[in-house]
Amino acid sequence: MKRVLITGAAGFLGSHLCDRFIREGYHVIGMDNLLTGSLDNIQHLFPLKEFEYYHHDVSKFVHVPGTLDYILHFASPASPIDYLKMPIQTLKVGALGTHNLLGLAKAKNARILVASTSEVYGDPLVHPQKEDYWGNVNPVGPRGVYDEAKRFLEAITMAYHNFHGVETRIVRIFNTFGPRMRINDGRVLPAFISQAIRGEGLTVFGDGSQTRSFCFMEDLVEGIYRLLHSDHHLPVNIGNPREISILDFAKEIIELVGNPKAKIVYKPLPVDDPKIRQPDISKAREILGWEPKVSREEGLKKSLSYFQEKVGA
Ligand code: UDP
Repeated sequence: MKRVLITGAAGFLGSHLCDRFIREGYHVIGMDNLLTGSLDNIQHLFPLKEFEYYHHDVSKFVHVPGTLDYILHFASPASPIDYLKMPIQTLKVGALGTHNLLGLAKAKNARILVASTSEVYGDPLVHPQKEDYWGNVNPVGPRGVYDEAKRFLEAITMAYHNFHGVETRIVRIFNTFGPRMRINDGRVLPAFISQAIRGEGLTVFGDGSQTRSFCFMEDLVEGIYRLLHSDHHLPVNIGNPREISILDFAKEIIELVGNPKAKIVYKPLPVDDPKIRQPDISKAREILGWEPKVSREEGLKKSLSYFQEKVGA
């Protein structure tokens, strides 16, 4: 049985990855410090003998007994309000945490896949974003703590690959959604859906002309699974290239939820909020034979009952 360590296992993406690797017949070691994750996301795995859980902060030395075949590093605060509240932890998990896990990968002769982000492109001047674009990041702005931590994560991962010959994979994840997102994590999708369910104003920041491209988590997990098993060590974008303005997205959510009390309210645009974002996924198509299968509308329908339950709870 192959053994995989997943950091950020109690988070939104980490927990879905745990499910996927369990389904594929792996022994999964989940690690989290529950800074933003929740055991609710993985409690169904605790009875399984194929699953182990360690409560640990990966920015401190990481010890895992036994062999490891794969490491997936998904620990990090990931929503803008989280990393604004926890700037130092965000920098530490992206920098020190990644260093520790690369060291572990080297010691265990394991292949490691690290979670990077579309934020490495910053407020992009090239559209859509291809992997060879270097980005437009403000290192001293509020988002710098996340963007630069992830840029460092990529740099140190490449260094371990080039200098130590560690088998590394880098995924650049674009906006993703689905069940197990925290409803109060401040990201646009959980914010809009819960506001619409409660019949409150949907808080559109700025004039809502900024764009994002939303990928359903099942597609994302499939892309990551394929990338891990590929032989490509350079960064690969995984996301859904269908782009929408935030204002149109608010209207779409109002229609989906169907609460006549929901309406749009405007709030100031946060500092350095990227104006446009859309992945160019030609590389993933070519190398992994991957592209999203679930439309935004379908994904939203599949996620709605989760959000309704959470808001009601
Ligand atoms: N946004 C918004 N209202 C909200 C939360 C976010 O209009 O209540 C906007 C935000 O300004 C950004 C986009 O939605 O332009 C996506 O924000 P999110 O925090 O989900 O993630 P980002 O893609 O910026 O990392």
